[in-house]
Amino acid sequence: AYDPVVEAFQYADVDRLLPVPGAESDKYRRGVVGVVAGSARYPGAAVLAVAGALRGGAGAVRYVGPAADAVLARFPETLVSAGPPARAGRVQAWAAGPGLGDDGDRLRDVVAADVPVLIDADGLRLADAAAVRKRVAPTLLTPHAGEAAALLGTSREEVESGRLEAVRELAGRYAATVLLKGSTTVVAGPDGTGAVRVNPTGTPWLATAGSGDVLSGLAGALLAAGLGARDAGATGAFLHGLAARLAADGAPVAAQDVADALPAAWRDVR
Ligand code: AMP
Ligand code: MG
Repeated sequence: AYDPVVEAFQYADVDRLLPVPGAESDKYRRGVVGVVAGSARYPGAAVLAVAGALRGGAGAVRYVGPAADAVLARFPETLVSAGPPARAGRVQAWAAGPGLGDDGDRLRDVVAADVPVLIDADGLRLADAAAVRKRVAPTLLTPHAGEAAALLGTSREEVESGRLEAVRELAGRYAATVLLKGSTTVVAGPDGTGAVRVNPTGTPWLATAGSGDVLSGLAGALLAAGLGARDAGATGAFLHGLAARLAADGAPVAAQDVADALPAAWRDVR
């Protein structure tokens, strides 16, 4: 069989995968996302990840961490838990890492969970590679080039000059799906082989603080809705880029504008 090395991810793919609720849906079927993000120093990362999850179609978002006041001030619909992630109650996927600082305990709990997990930002630095490899449920890692370089023990320039090789190498090492962010976002499956998906919707207006945090929540919501890690990553990157294009329209946007434009991106795809 013909096995393409690289495939462009397109409108029709996203349209097919969007988790649109039906008449029988309730918030649990739509998916409960657990967000493990934010710290005293970076409370905003938690708010942006929750924004991405809610605008990404989550039935409910559970936030676990020290930025609950900031999250509730912006999104009173969030369920907050004071204890560790393992005792947070029903969660169908976790999105962990943005602004987490050095909270390795919270991250460890999430890696040990038996539901799909997305790991981004500080979470990538904190995650134990052997523990990630042992996971049974899907894992989605979402590094930018600098984070990917740190994980691979190489330089950012090396990653940028060989993005396809880098994303495959990481996927193999972690036995996880990897979404490598940047000017051309690429997604590789856990076996480190097969087609790498390339996202066509990126825009340099996305290069703004906090935009990656929005993607974490969004792709986490897609995992909670039942998409596989490759589909959640590619669909998330597609909607995220499209939302930024719609929000920016040739002018600067802030990360929260990208989150606010996610519903418009859905409408554009459907
Ligand atoms: P982060 O680095 O975690 O804040 O994430 C930044 C987000 O912006 C990711 O979704 C990147 O793919 C995206 N991004 C950054 N720079 C560019 C660029 N030059 N062109 C397109 N997308 C970009
Ligand atoms: Mg980031």
